[in-house]
Amino acid sequence: FCLSRMQVPLLDIKTQNAALEPALTQAFQRVFQSGKFILGEEVEGFEKEVCAYTGAKHAVALSSGTDALLVAFLALGIGAGDEVICPSYTFFASAGCIARTGAKPVFVDSLEDTFNLDPQKLEEKITPKTRAILVVHLFGQAAAMNEIREIAKRHNLPVIEDAAQTLGARYEDQAVGTMGCFGTYSFFPSKNLGGFGDAGLLVTNDDALAEKSLRLRNHGMHPKYHHSMIGGNFRIDALQAALLRVKLPHLDTYCEKRAKNAAQYQKLLAKVEGIILPAVKAGNHCIWNQFTLRVKNGKRDALRDYLAGQGIGSEIYYPIPMHQQECFHYLNYKREDFPIASQLAEEALSIPIYPELAEAQIDYVAEKICQFKA
Ligand SMILES: *Cc1c(COP(=O)(O)O)cnc(C)c1O
Repeated sequence: FCLSRMQVPLLDIKTQNAALEPALTQAFQRVFQSGKFILGEEVEGFEKEVCAYTGAKHAVALSSGTDALLVAFLALGIGAGDEVICPSYTFFASAGCIARTGAKPVFVDSLEDTFNLDPQKLEEKITPKTRAILVVHLFGQAAAMNEIREIAKRHNLPVIEDAAQTLGARYEDQAVGTMGCFGTYSFFPSKNLGGFGDAGLLVTNDDALAEKSLRLRNHGMHPKYHHSMIGGNFRIDALQAALLRVKLPHLDTYCEKRAKNAAQYQKLLAKVEGIILPAVKAGNHCIWNQFTLRVKNGKRDALRDYLAGQGIGSEIYYPIPMHQQECFHYLNYKREDFPIASQLAEEALSIPIYPELAEAQIDYVAEKICQFKA
């Protein structure tokens, strides 16, 4: 049979937030009436709730997921002359923040089945200048942390987890983001816990690093007008924290719905020629920030166009790996240096997976993918 035409956007933020409108309005009024718009009680409350949710000892809420990465690097004292290893296949912020400290980003290739850093290619990147390893947990699933941490330990290097896409995910028994010396999260509206603008947060179990991060958030200032280090304005708005506090208790439900949607796709798309489904490794609890196909035989862009014609949204995360970005040409990498990252950039296509999708919409998307013939 043939389902009649539907509209399936990549993401529908309005439906999720509309369901919480009374509570969100109340939170807004609370902040409105307090007259306190920067940091303060709402932010501290939100930080405590994220600590309870993740099991982390400290949380520092910040202006964005990008700034959370930057604060983590600054707190570790990373700067000019240093090297930090990160995957080439990631969102720009991961590599951009390394470079912004003055350090050199050193890229490593990824695994084609999980899109995450390949631990077997990690150790050869370590030099005497290496100061840290930045792991990125892409699309909702943790990277191979046991292997990565073992290598890091052998070389006495801190691991920072870019968990922008993975708040709520677990690796064996641990919350993703709490396994390294820092974990960073983003509340950009398209993340599983989507805010109402830009916001982010870092977690750490280290008292001294937490203290430093708090200072860095406010220009490195402590006490008032005294600066022993250079930070920035990385503060989160009280309003943003108040609104996120309304949504945090619903995060697990959102993630469960995404997982249900993913299972439906896995079933419907199990045997489509030329399409490889995302794999979840044993021990991982994936929260499906994205459902990312690999489209073989150079047909990715054609499938994307075809779906758009059927009213179905999709996105390419990510079309250009870091080693091919113009701003990193000075590092002199070639396409062949990271064959998997380059391949994934040509094959990856993320399709709608947001929690509020109706079953019929998933059926429709799957049907159209099955019908696609380039
Ligand atoms: C979204 C994202 C970031 C940046 O978060 P912002 O809040 O948008 O600054 C960093 N890394 C990854 C992997 C992301 O997906």
